[in-house]
Amino acid sequence: MTDIAVIGAGIAGLVCAQQLSQAGYSVLVVEKSRGLGGRLATRRLHGICADHGACYLEPKGELLGRFVEILRSRQILKVWTEEVYELTVNALLTEPKNRSPRYVAPEGMSAIAKSLAPGLEILLNQRVVAITSIPENSWRLTLESSNEELTAKAIVVAIPAPQAVMLLEPLGESVLDAVFLDNLRSVEFYPSISVIAGYPPTSQPLPEWKALTFMDNADLAWIGLDSSKRPNPQQPHFVVQSSANFAQRHLESQDLQPVGQLMLQRAAESLSLPWLNTPEWMQVHRWRYAFPSCPWHEAFLSAGSPSPLVCCGDWCGGNLVEGAMLSGLAAADEINHQLRHLLLENVNFLKVLT
Ligand SMILES: Cc1cc2nc3c(=O)[nH]c(=O)nc-3n(C[C@H](O)[C@H](O)[C@H](O)COP(=O)(O)OP(=O)(O)OC[C@H]3O[C@@H](n4cnc5c(N)ncnc54)[C@H](O)[C@@H]3O)c2cc1C
Repeated sequence: MTDIAVIGAGIAGLVCAQQLSQAGYSVLVVEKSRGLGGRLATRRLHGICADHGACYLEPKGELLGRFVEILRSRQILKVWTEEVYELTVNALLTEPKNRSPRYVAPEGMSAIAKSLAPGLEILLNQRVVAITSIPENSWRLTLESSNEELTAKAIVVAIPAPQAVMLLEPLGESVLDAVFLDNLRSVEFYPSISVIAGYPPTSQPLPEWKALTFMDNADLAWIGLDSSKRPNPQQPHFVVQSSANFAQRHLESQDLQPVGQLMLQRAAESLSLPWLNTPEWMQVHRWRYAFPSCPWHEAFLSAGSPSPLVCCGDWCGGNLVEGAMLSGLAAADEINHQLRHLLLENVNFLKVLT
């Protein structure tokens, strides 16, 4: 029996798990993928790495600011650029309005999540497929691949709300508060499609920008020269992100290659860089739950059940990586409040980094 099972090893789950573990609880993190980070995602392919999820960190508040400073001092993060260009529909490239440092991990953005893993017990490649309430105020978690079962006194569900609905709905209103389930169902996400595309070393001209936002483009949202994040890149490679509308139209496509090709064609046309249309290689990724479109207005969502069950993630209270971290911390506080009231004042998940 673990004190707390955390479902999801994205940034929210890891911050929450680290905080609770440092407070003295036994914590087990269960993650369905083979790596850490969730949407802080890095893919290794053709001898390079590329960030097909979160592209950079731009701290607005104190917590992410401190986190970034520590990761910079450990050479995990560096400033990538201070400028994100904008391209309007009539092909006008405009100088960035807001100059502020955008931080990236040369080893890939998933390195940020990995920095929070030391000391945590984490099960990878294990999807939680069912949760049941068992006597003596505890929970049982059923895992897909091993058919194994875990028990915990409390659960943190650190996954996108629509996925949490699928997992929690079967528990029904006899275990979960009806209002809680309604609130969870009210959260919605935009999808996104990302393309990673590599080009011959001779490709010219390379753009003057490293990152660019497409303004009012029906199909595209963002493009970054991802190779410029890496030390000594051998060839240029880009990451292109679709608009939410485009992703919605193509989300169920069996074959994503033509969808990715269409995105590159659109980018080549809009940017007047014809060679973008003929990559040496490319890979396409579908994010069914990319950005919260209709978030929950508080930093966590508690089930109101006899045994603690608290949901968190970027869809609670804020958005992006910073919002996910704050939500993970708020969920840790709430679980502690419902379980044992340990003193969390001197507990700081950032200690794992120092
Ligand atoms: C294309 C894209 C670009 C982005 N760009 C930026 C950016 O530039 N800057 C920024 O700050 N943010 C950006 N974001 C947003 C940022 O990535 C997210 O806000 C943040 O990573 C969310 O963290 P999270 O922990 O809430 O959720 P997630 O990262 O989604 O973590 C949830 C985890 O739960 C796991 N999981 C789900 N279901 C189960 C289950 N049943 N059992 C076990 N595990 C499960 C998932 O595999 C995942 O690892 C971007 C996102 C996308 C998709």
